[in-house]
This record gives sequence, C-alpha cells and structure tokens, in this order.
Amino acid sequence: MPSKLGKYTLQRTLGQGAFSRVKLGVVEETGERYAVKIHRLDDPKLDQASIDVIQNEVVAIKALSHPGIINIVDYYARAHLTKSCGKAYPVVCVIVEDLAEGGELFYFVKNTGYFAEHFARYFFRQIIDAIDYVHKAGYAHRDIKPDNILLDSNFNIKIADFGFAGPIAGRTGTGSLTTKLGTVPYQAPEINERKPYSGEAVDLFACGIVLFITIAGTPPFSLADKSEFYYKLIVNKKWDMFWKYHMKGKPSPNFFSDEFKDLIQRMLAYDPADRLTVDQIRSHPWFTSQSATYQEVQ
Ligand code: ADP
Ligand code: MG
Repeated sequence: MPSKLGKYTLQRTLGQGAFSRVKLGVVEETGERYAVKIHRLDDPKLDQASIDVIQNEVVAIKALSHPGIINIVDYYARAHLTKSCGKAYPVVCVIVEDLAEGGELFYFVKNTGYFAEHFARYFFRQIIDAIDYVHKAGYAHRDIKPDNILLDSNFNIKIADFGFAGPIAGRTGTGSLTTKLGTVPYQAPEINERKPYSGEAVDLFACGIVLFITIAGTPPFSLADKSEFYYKLIVNKKWDMFWKYHMKGKPSPNFFSDEFKDLIQRMLAYDPADRLTVDQIRSHPWFTSQSATYQEVQ
C-alpha cells in the first residue's frame, strides 16, 4: 500500500542514505512525479551534526539555480503530537526535488561497463559546467561522486546531495575549510591529511575521480586496496605499472588516450596548487576534443 505524505503519494524507493530515504512521490491529481527525500528526526542515531547536514542541504540548494543542479520544489518539517511528552515536534523533514528520471550516473556506468572517451566527455563537460557554477555562487559541494550525480530523462546531469556543501574559503572571511568530509576515494589528499583546503580544489579532485570511473569502469584506488601505491603510480605517470597491477592488464594498456592520462594526472595532482583549475580543465586538449552527440548518448 503506498503511503501519503502531504500531497505526495509515496511509491518505490529511489535511494537510501544514512538518515534519509528518497522515494518516488506522485501528486495524484496532476500525475506530477517528484523525488521526496525524507529524514526521520526521531531516529535515536540522529545527532545535532546530522540535523545540520539536512539544514545545510536546504540552504545551499535553495541558493543555487542551474540546469546541472537538482532543483528543490518544496521543503517542510512535519510536526506530530507525541503521546509520551504531549509536545509537538518535527518528526520528519521532507525535501521535495525534481525527479531525475535517469537515476544515478553510477548505475549508468555500471550497466554500460565503461564509456568510450568521447561519450564520457559528454557528461564530464556538463559536470564541470555545474560545479563551476556552484563555486562561482560561493559554495563547495564536498561530496562529488557518481551516486550524487543524477541524470534526467534527456541524459542531462543533475548534481544532487548538497548535505556537505559549505561556503567556499575566503568568500565568507572564515578562512580555509577544514572539516573532514566526503567519501573515499573521492577525497583529495589534503582532506585526508586534515590540512586546511580549498573547496574548489577538492571538488575538482573528486571530478577527476568521477571522470576516471566513467572511462575505466572502476575507481583508480579505494580504501580496501593499496590506495597510496596506485595513487602514486598515477601522479608519477607510471601508467604501465598502474595498468599491470590495478587494471590487471585489462582492457589493453593503450585503452586510455594520452590526452586523457595527462588530464587525470593534472586533476589529481598531490599539491592543490598544481591541480588544474576549471579554466585550465576547459582548455585542456582532452576536454576540447569532439564529444559524443546527444543522439549517440540516447
Ligand atoms: P544521501 O544524502 O542520503 O546520500 P541523496 O540526496 O544522495 O541522499 O539521495 C540518495 C539517493 O537517492 C541518490 O543517490 C539517488 O539514487 C536517489 N535520489 C536522490 N535524489 C533524487 C532525485 N531528485 N531523483 C532521482 N533519484 C534521486
Ligand atoms: Mg548521496
């Protein structure tokens, strides 16, 4: 039996996080379909920090409006009268978003195996446009990964999940960002080392990892394996060894173009000062090469 939340009839689960569940919500009268992200505030595991994450998400995403960013259409907290204390307090926080019909970029890559480079470029250009917009609007996303990059029914990317987003260092006078956030292996080295970091540089590092995954079909390193070893092979341009040990020789070693390898090495540079900026990414030969057409992507 589908349940109801306000005017939304809740149907299948689209995704699940630590404290949230995202459901397909349909407005019966109009047939409109949305993604309804529900946080239960009476979960005993939910502490103040997690409540901040919810609040954060709403503040950030409401301030942003771009075709490459998921749009919030409604936000509310529902109060319930609890019998135990007789007080009304919010039990669920609801964020209603435009539905990204195509689901996660992650699933698309998984189903396809990996993308040809010109195909990956089609998505990567959109990701860079959206993240550039976020930065210019004064925010860092800080949790860029393929499960937070969604697709609409026209294969346009929509960046979602702004729970970890924060104002960019310098713009607010608070200095560099320091909070250890994000998800391995998308975290830049300076986050792991707990150094103050630039929001732009850590997001672009994560975009480099996403780009790698779309083309190789696998992350370049993860916590479970010898992540430092593989990371050093990439940044020191030891692609033959990387291929032998990490990719186990498959597919053929010259599968990546030289331009792609060059772009990845520079996007993942250890020192954020050496890492490519958005403008440098946009003028890189890999980025400016021909992209797949909309018809090819369908
Ligand atoms: P969390 O903070 O729990 O990771 P997300 O906002 O990333 O929450 O949502 C969790 C998952 O739910 C996403 O990875 C995606 O699969 C699905 N999802 C979230 N928002 C939408 C949306 N607008 N349209 C379609 N699916 C969505
Ligand atoms: Mg998420």
